[in-house]
Amino acid sequence: MRIDYSPAELAPRRSVKRSVLIASLCAVLLAAVASREGVAKRQSVSADPALPADIASALEVQNDAAFTEAVQAALADPLPAPEPSDWVTVEVQRGQTLSQIFETQGLGFSESIAVTKLSRDAARLKNLRAGDKLQLRKSPESRLAELRFEFDGSNTLHVRRDADDRLEAVTTAIEFEHRQAKAVGVIENSLFLDGQRAGLSNRLLMQMAEMFGYDIDFALDLRIGDRFGVIYEELYRDGEKLRDGDIVAAEFVNRGRSFRALRFIDGDGNAAYYTPEGESIRKAFLRTPVDFARISSRFNPNRRHPILNTIRAHKGVDYAAGAGTPIRATADGKVEFIGVKGGYGRVVILKHGSQYTTLYAHMSRYRSGLRNGSPVRQGQVIGYVGASGLATAPHLHYEFRVNGVHKDPVTVPLPRANPLPRSALAQWKAESATVLAQLDAMAEQQLARSQADLAQQEP
Ligand SMILES: [Zn+2]
Repeated sequence: MRIDYSPAELAPRRSVKRSVLIASLCAVLLAAVASREGVAKRQSVSADPALPADIASALEVQNDAAFTEAVQAALADPLPAPEPSDWVTVEVQRGQTLSQIFETQGLGFSESIAVTKLSRDAARLKNLRAGDKLQLRKSPESRLAELRFEFDGSNTLHVRRDADDRLEAVTTAIEFEHRQAKAVGVIENSLFLDGQRAGLSNRLLMQMAEMFGYDIDFALDLRIGDRFGVIYEELYRDGEKLRDGDIVAAEFVNRGRSFRALRFIDGDGNAAYYTPEGESIRKAFLRTPVDFARISSRFNPNRRHPILNTIRAHKGVDYAAGAGTPIRATADGKVEFIGVKGGYGRVVILKHGSQYTTLYAHMSRYRSGLRNGSPVRQGQVIGYVGASGLATAPHLHYEFRVNGVHKDPVTVPLPRANPLPRSALAQWKAESATVLAQLDAMAEQQLARSQADLAQQEP
């Protein structure tokens, strides 16, 4: 099967015959000019043996009447009209379905149904959204000959009728040109303001914040004078920028400490980020199991219990949060216990590898389907904040144990996630040398600039 859907196919084709005709018409006009300027000149032109035959014959024209006749004869010659573009581009209107679009294009309802059954990607045509664009080509019998649909920004669905009169669907990846771009900035206001001023889109800023989020708490740790440098990809098609791609490498200097992350793409095309030494930038644990929560009670081995009014160690940390706030597993692991346990109320205990366990208490409810032995992923919701057990108000009581010993979840050193596989490390280090040199150069430029700024400010 041949797929050759070059954009040039959309343009009307100009036949060879037509080009020849245009050339001979020009020759006739040349001849007319020549005939008016005198026979002698014309003859000298016609004597040129290098002239093509039809120009030479046009130059034989002797007078205006003959000239007119020649032009008319040329025009009467059956001229193939330029083929109208067979392709129709349809922009989907709000609420419009594929069958409605087919109807407006004079295509049958049954064909619209058949098309959506061709493949999983073809089934996407059942959920068209306003602004989607479809390209359609009809056969002379007003049946669907071809359809093209670009979806998810990266792929094109091609449907076409094969030689056996059957519709077939193929999905191909849109080919982008990847160009590298750079941005540097200094924090003067906020990550978002200064990031945007440096030319970074919100998407790239989010990606950067996520990358460094295990090491820097952007809500608490950010300081004026922190700086960043980002090398990222821009996706181009036909010389036009479509959108930003992913971050290739980035550096964030927070309170004088530099954090660097470089991309690694594995054999399956999945991207992950590592430190220049090949350590994962991810930690095996999230620091906190609830987003946007405030610590209401810290880890304290000598605390007086608010309800029991006795000295009783507080072996975890409490996060005040509204009832129903999602609670996330702080690391990959397995459910070791799920159920009601005395003062803890509804509680989930997760086991992570052989050394670590985490405990989440006072839940209002568990994530449905979660049971003993269920595997959980880091960041996955396991339940919701409540006040079950001994609790005065909705909050999450969170404990962190290493080899059975309680640690302060806020300060315990967190292990990093798996490092880059040893087998890939040497080659990756060699490949990332260029990117690291670019980060160095960006940092140097920034330093030089800020020193120049300082020198200007001095009296
Ligand atoms: Zn507590």
